[in-house]
Amino acid sequence: MALTFSLGDMIETKKPHPCGGSKWQVVRTGADYKIKCLTCGRIVMLTPDELKKRVKRTLPAEG
Ligand SMILES: [Zn+2]
Repeated sequence: MALTFSLGDMIETKKPHPCGGSKWQVVRTGADYKIKCLTCGRIVMLTPDELKKRVKRTLPAEG
């Protein structure tokens, strides 16, 4: 699967965060990705492979 992510992309993960939220925003790209939980604001760092495994789908931009 060829998934790419850009800064600011909204994504939904297969498994929700412990806070109950499953929507995240990509806040850093590069060798590692950082995604921010939109429910609690926590930031998690993932490798590109880890991110691809976790993502269920990308969400349309808000607005
Ligand atoms: Zn959270």
